[in-house]
Amino acid sequence: MKEDPSGSRRGFLRNFSFGSVGGVLRVGGMLGKLEKMAEAAQNLDRKVGFALVGLGSLATNQIAPALLKSKYCSLAAVVSGDSQKLQRWGTQYKLPQNCLYSYETFDQIIYNQAVDVVYILLPNSMHADFTIRAAQAGKHVLCEKPMEVSVEKCERMIEACQSAGKQLSVGYRCQFEPHHLEMMRLAREKVFGQVRLIEASFGLRLDGADQWRLKRDLAGGGALMDLGIYALQGARYLAGEEPIEVTAYETKSDTEKFAEVDESIFWTLKFPSGLIANCGTTYLVPGMNRLWAGADQGFFELSSAYGYEGQKGQTHKGPFGFPPTDHFAVQMDDFAVNLATGKKSKVSGEEGLRDIKIITAIYESIKLGGQPVQLT
Ligand code: NAD
Repeated sequence: MKEDPSGSRRGFLRNFSFGSVGGVLRVGGMLGKLEKMAEAAQNLDRKVGFALVGLGSLATNQIAPALLKSKYCSLAAVVSGDSQKLQRWGTQYKLPQNCLYSYETFDQIIYNQAVDVVYILLPNSMHADFTIRAAQAGKHVLCEKPMEVSVEKCERMIEACQSAGKQLSVGYRCQFEPHHLEMMRLAREKVFGQVRLIEASFGLRLDGADQWRLKRDLAGGGALMDLGIYALQGARYLAGEEPIEVTAYETKSDTEKFAEVDESIFWTLKFPSGLIANCGTTYLVPGMNRLWAGADQGFFELSSAYGYEGQKGQTHKGPFGFPPTDHFAVQMDDFAVNLATGKKSKVSGEEGLRDIKIITAIYESIKLGGQPVQLT
């Protein structure tokens, strides 16, 4: 088992500020909650060990570096179809040979006590298979967005994790990022009054014609599945309620490159309160990157909103901002706290499933020529 000297139990408890638990425990209302947290933390004598499945761009450039910055998590194992890549990662991150897995030997991870969480970083249509195998191997799962390519596959992932008594969380990093949290606060506390209108859009130019993102069987869809999902998430977490109807349109300029998947989609969500969200996504042009809310007494927005960095906030009164944060490190740390306390992740499998249901309805509305589709 790999032990991280900086991840001792004392370190873990200190990081969670349990030093004053004795004092705080006397505060009546908090007693049960803190006792439960302290009890859960007793079970952790090291950092939460992550196994990364799929060592592509996100794993290499964001997740492995984020694990080095994380307070409560560390890299414990890697899984890849490329044996040379496995050896390179093993050397770079000082992982023992028995913590390097191929896709075929992955199920042996059941015997690896250093691994608590399997982080799925594969093409979208491979998420269910590895989530289910990870749950069956007794591991918690953090699965990248989009959760999967169909409602049925998402439901199977939830069921597998529930049956195994393991947590399932989806890679919605923005829900942990301070600018997005501030946008949620401004909406939820009605700081500028009731939110009436939302605009949310995320798109970029997808260069190159030979990659899994352009293949329906691996990606499940195009810009909407990959980038539009951020705009959909933004609309939902600013609204604070679930949409009841969607209307959508698609436009495609390069029918050869985007033969199998969508290039640009615009959609409108109606919410029970009467709130309307206008959303868009594209693989055609760069720079579509905004989350805006119009309320009775003013507006608030992020532009840009969804990159790994560079969030810029403003309201009708002026700019707001926070120091840069590693979105992935804060999300993984939050998950570690969930595991220590037994609290369900706020970006659970059910949250991921909700988006896939709405995405399915968006595609249905497009097929129906832009007719509204009711969401149940
Ligand atoms: P990538 O193409 O860079 O990496 C994918 C990995 O999967 C590669 O190591 C590849 O070898 C492996 N793989 C295994 N079987 C494959 C197959 N049949 N075809 C193609 N690749 C195969 O992709 P990525 O950008 O790292 O994205 C991986 C996942 O992470 C996707 O689900 C994506 O939506 C998600 N993602 C999330 C964010 C975010 O900000 N949360 C950002 C980028 C990607």
